Amino acid sequence: MSRLIVVSNRVPLPAKNGAASAGGLAVALQSALAARGGLWLGWSGKICSDEPVGPLTTLKDGNIEYALTDLTDLDVEEYYQGFANRVLWPICHYRLDLAEYGRREMTGYFRVNQFFASRLLPLIQKDDVIWIHDYHLIPLAEELRRQGVKNRIGFFLHIPWPAPDVFLAMPVHDELLKSLTAYDVIGFQTRQDRENFAACLARQNIGERLGEEEFSAAGRTFIARPYPIGIETDEFAKLARQAGNTTLHKRMRQSLDGKDLIIGVDRLDYSKGITQRIDAFETFLTRHPDYQRKVTLLQITPKSRSEVPEYEAMQKTVAEQAGRVNGALGTVDWVPIRYVNRSLRRAALAGLYRMAKVALVTPLRDGMNLVAKEFVAAQDEDDPGVLLLSRFAGAAHELKEAMLVNPYDVEGTADVIARSLAMPREERQARWEGMMATVRENNVFTWCDTFLGDLAGNEAPEGVEQ
Ligand code: UDP
Repeated sequence: MSRLIVVSNRVPLPAKNGAASAGGLAVALQSALAARGGLWLGWSGKICSDEPVGPLTTLKDGNIEYALTDLTDLDVEEYYQGFANRVLWPICHYRLDLAEYGRREMTGYFRVNQFFASRLLPLIQKDDVIWIHDYHLIPLAEELRRQGVKNRIGFFLHIPWPAPDVFLAMPVHDELLKSLTAYDVIGFQTRQDRENFAACLARQNIGERLGEEEFSAAGRTFIARPYPIGIETDEFAKLARQAGNTTLHKRMRQSLDGKDLIIGVDRLDYSKGITQRIDAFETFLTRHPDYQRKVTLLQITPKSRSEVPEYEAMQKTVAEQAGRVNGALGTVDWVPIRYVNRSLRRAALAGLYRMAKVALVTPLRDGMNLVAKEFVAAQDEDDPGVLLLSRFAGAAHELKEAMLVNPYDVEGTADVIARSLAMPREERQARWEGMMATVRENNVFTWCDTFLGDLAGNEAPEGVEQ
C-alpha cells in the first residue's frame, strides 16, 4: 500500500497523554495514516514575521509524521481570514451578501497555496498518494502538477458546493474550477454538491462529462463523487451510554427537574440558523402555552472565528435574542433557553444528546452536520429522542427518517417541535432505527476507506506531461 500524505489547513496533533479528544475525522485519518505510514501537513496556527524558509516543525507519532509550517501575518489575513473565510465560506453557504471579495485576498490565497506546494514538494515520494482537504486548499494540486508531481491527488470538500448562479458570482470562479481538474478524485458531501459542481463546469465549458462520475479536462480524467462523511458511530454510542453517571449529567438531570430537554449544538456561525431556531422555539412556546415551564432549550454555541466581524456581531445578536425570550416568557423558577457560549467535550455532549427528547439541527446550509449524526448515535434504543433536521444540511440527504424542516419557515418549524415532543415511542423508535442503520453503515471509516479506495485507482493516472 502506498504511503499517504494528508494536507489540511490545520492539523489535529495527537494528544500528549493519549487522551481521546480528537473528533471522528482526525481519528479516521490518523488510523488510515497509521495503517500505511504517512505524513500530515498543515499550518501550525502560529504567525511569524517573515516567510518561513527553514525546516518544517515535525512531530513523529508511531509511523505518522506531522509537519507544520508557520504563516506570516499577511498570509493569515489574506488567505485564511480573507479569501477562505470571507469569500469561499459565505459563497459556499449561499451568503453572497456576506462575501467580501478583494483582489488582495484572492492573490494571497493563491500565494499561500503555492507556498504550501513548495513546502510539500520536497517531502513527496514517487508512490505517495496525496489527499488534500477543504476549501482553503483548492488550488494546491494545480500548483503541485505545475512542479511536475504525477502522484495520485485527491480533494475532499467538507462544505457545500453551491448552485452555479451563486458560485459563478465569485470573480475568480474559472481559476478555481480549472484548478480542481488537476485532481484525480474530487469528493463532495452529497450528490447535489457534485451536481452543482458539474453544472458549473458545463456552464463554463470546462472539460467534458464522460459519465455520471467521470470527467475529462485539459488532457486528463478525474472522478467527482459524493462521499458523505460520518462519525465513529460505535465509539460515540459508547461514550453516550457511559456518560449517564458523571457529575455533570447528574447535575443536569437534577436541574431539569423532570422538564423535557431540547438541545441545539452549533459553532456560532451564520450558516447554522441559530436565530431562526430561537424564533421557532419562542413561537412554539407561545402557540403551545401548555409546554411553558415543561421544556428547556439548551443551546450550546462555542464561539468561532471571532476575528471576522460578522461572527462578532452575531455573538451579540444571539445573546440578546435568548435574553429577550427568557425575559418575556421565563418565570422565577423557569428559564426557557439556557445559552452556553463555550465548548464542551465530546463525552459531555454525548451524554446531553442522550438526555434530550429532541435535537434542533436547523442550519440554513451545511456541508454535512455531524451533530445530527452524533445525536442519533447517542440515543437509548428503548426510548430514543427525535431529530429535527434542516433539509438544507447534507445529513438530510441520508437521514430520511428525521423530522425534516425548512428552517426559514419559523412557524412550520415551531409546529414540528410540538409534533416531535408529542411523538409516540413506537414512531420514535422506527425513525431512530432507520437513521441509526445509516449512521452505522456510513461511518467515518467507511468514508475514509471509500475515498482512499477510489484514490488508489486501478490504473496508472492518465496524467499528461506537465
Ligand atoms: N463540538 C464539540 N463541542 C462543542 C460543540 C461542538 O466537540 O461544544 C463538536 C461536535 O461534537 C461536532 C463538531 O464539533 O463533532 C461540529 O461539527 P459539525 O459538522 O456539526 O459542524 P461544523 O462546526 O464542522 O460546521
